[in-house]
Amino acid sequence: MQDVIWIAGHRGMVGSAVVRALENEGRKVLTVSRQELDLSDQDAVHAWVNKNKPTSIIFCAAKVGGIMANDTQPVDFLYDNLCIQNNVIHAAHKADVDRLVFLGSSCIYPKFAEQPIKETSLLTGALEPTNEWYAIAKIAGIKLCQAYMRQYGRKYVSVMPCNLYGPGDNFDLKTSHVLPALIRKVLLAKTRGEETLEVWGSGAPLREFMHVDDLAAGVVFCHDNYFEYEHINCGSEAEVTIRQLAETIASEVGFTGRLVFDASKPDGTPRKVMDSHRLRDMGWSHKIELRDGIRSTIEWFLKNAPAAQ
Ligand code: GDP
Repeated sequence: MQDVIWIAGHRGMVGSAVVRALENEGRKVLTVSRQELDLSDQDAVHAWVNKNKPTSIIFCAAKVGGIMANDTQPVDFLYDNLCIQNNVIHAAHKADVDRLVFLGSSCIYPKFAEQPIKETSLLTGALEPTNEWYAIAKIAGIKLCQAYMRQYGRKYVSVMPCNLYGPGDNFDLKTSHVLPALIRKVLLAKTRGEETLEVWGSGAPLREFMHVDDLAAGVVFCHDNYFEYEHINCGSEAEVTIRQLAETIASEVGFTGRLVFDASKPDGTPRKVMDSHRLRDMGWSHKIELRDGIRSTIEWFLKNAPAAQ
């Protein structure tokens, strides 16, 4: 019997990439629109999962956002995420769906975790305050999956991606992450013939970026091959400073103005690179290098700009 995999959150950047990856392999995917199913409605989620009986679930639905959105909408990041993930994970168990992959984020790790961050660093120190709301929700999701594995033997596992980017990203300047924000800002600065480009913070923080299509391949790989109790990291292990990122985007767009750093905006965590050796040792690795990924994402944004804004 062929697997029927429900991608919860298939309209988002990650969910849509996972759908593409599965469909490219000719696999059977189940999706449901937000209008048809509100994931924060517990009864509706239970009824829908019971009726549609997927053989497994990949949980990509989440309220996500960049450093400012996280900091200014704490209730949305904590409450909304707890609600939707609790509903889907519990409904999976009730409907006897034995397999689930839960997606988290590298922000679950302590602010000053030893770098590159190993899976075992979870809950060994205080979180970065600008994204603790999202991080606490995601940690609760990891633990809930582990609880179902421990108490009921369910094969519910968690995958932690690094900072992601790609087609379908949020390009809103207030709520987005740094990479799409800088793509949009640089394009605007070039069009308007501006001489400077505003970059938040000091430009010194280090981040690990990966194209969402690489993550999707990693998630499908984990769905098929990873059955351990502990969550697993999935990243590129390629680090850049925010300054280097801004310079790369500027050179791809052909913007030659000066970078101006706005110290009134937060830096967030100083460094966030994960150790993804466990997944690499199993045979997975990322393929898309940052500059190539940035170039194709700029092309995607230019083609889809009206829809993306
Ligand atoms: P984080 O990885 O959770 O900290 O989230 P972000 O992707 O939002 O921010 C990463 C880093 O990029 C932080 O140090 C930000 O201050 C910096 N940054 C520089 N310019 C921008 C921008 O225009 N938008 C965002 N979101 N971050 C920016």
